Amino acid sequence: MLQGKHAIVTGGGTGIGLAIARSLADAGAQVTITGRRADVLKEVAEPGMFALPMDVSDEASVREGMASAVAARGPIQICVANAGIAEGRKLQKTSSEFWRKIMATNLDGCFYTVRESLESMTTTDWGRVIAISSIAGLRGAPGAGAYAASKHGVIGMMRSFAEDFLGGPITFNSICPGYVDTPIVTRNTDAISKRAGVSEEEARNMMINMNRHKRLISPEEVAATALWLCNPLIESVNGTEIRIAGGQL
Ligand code: NDP
Repeated sequence: MLQGKHAIVTGGGTGIGLAIARSLADAGAQVTITGRRADVLKEVAEPGMFALPMDVSDEASVREGMASAVAARGPIQICVANAGIAEGRKLQKTSSEFWRKIMATNLDGCFYTVRESLESMTTTDWGRVIAISSIAGLRGAPGAGAYAASKHGVIGMMRSFAEDFLGGPITFNSICPGYVDTPIVTRNTDAISKRAGVSEEEARNMMINMNRHKRLISPEEVAATALWLCNPLIESVNGTEIRIAGGQL
């Protein structure tokens, strides 16, 4: 389905991004995976994947990285803005530095990545932009002010960029997962247990119980949805968000 298409997946070395990269590659796309840790990218890159170290919070790094991906593999027609950090702090403990750190990666990083892939899509007259937001982009949660604001912003960005190109062959959508079984959840179990004053096991169970299937979501479920959005037949799903949260509201 995606033969001849060049896809870039930011944060493609781990978790959701890696699952998406693998499913796009299985569908025939040439996939570039990015992240800050070159060793991680090198270790997971499958034959045919292009590993590109790039820091999405750094505008120059994204500009140079995306240009080198285009030079190596041709125009980017699928852009998955997935790189993100999930750290929580209550308002009283949210410093300006913390706020900027979350915004720089989750919101600015998404913007830089999408903007730098646009020329490729307009010149080839086809494109799929998928931003990985979160269920926290659709609601609030304790200790999630900065993270939720960044993920709400991602949704607003995709809705608006879709309006900028309405009726054209480029679509812009967000995916909003609940708790997915990835390194972010493992790292955050400790933080959630401290914030809620419960054990780590209870914190993990709290996340599991928010999903009505009583389990964490698999990265492959998110990847299957991203792949579906890349189907050339699916052009009218545009400027919207898809919740993958096991019924969590
Ligand atoms: P991971 O921690 O496995 O993935 C995050 C990825 O982003 C890593 O590969 C990391 O690579 C990369 N990254 C982080 N900061 C930067 C940066 N400044 N520049 C470039 N790459 C960066 O967790 P997930 O797979 O779970 O997260 C992927 C996305 O899904 C995130 O946007 C997250 O907010 C979102 N999400 C996750 C949920 C979950 O429950 N797991 C739920 C809802 C949304 P490196 O460190 O090498 O830079």
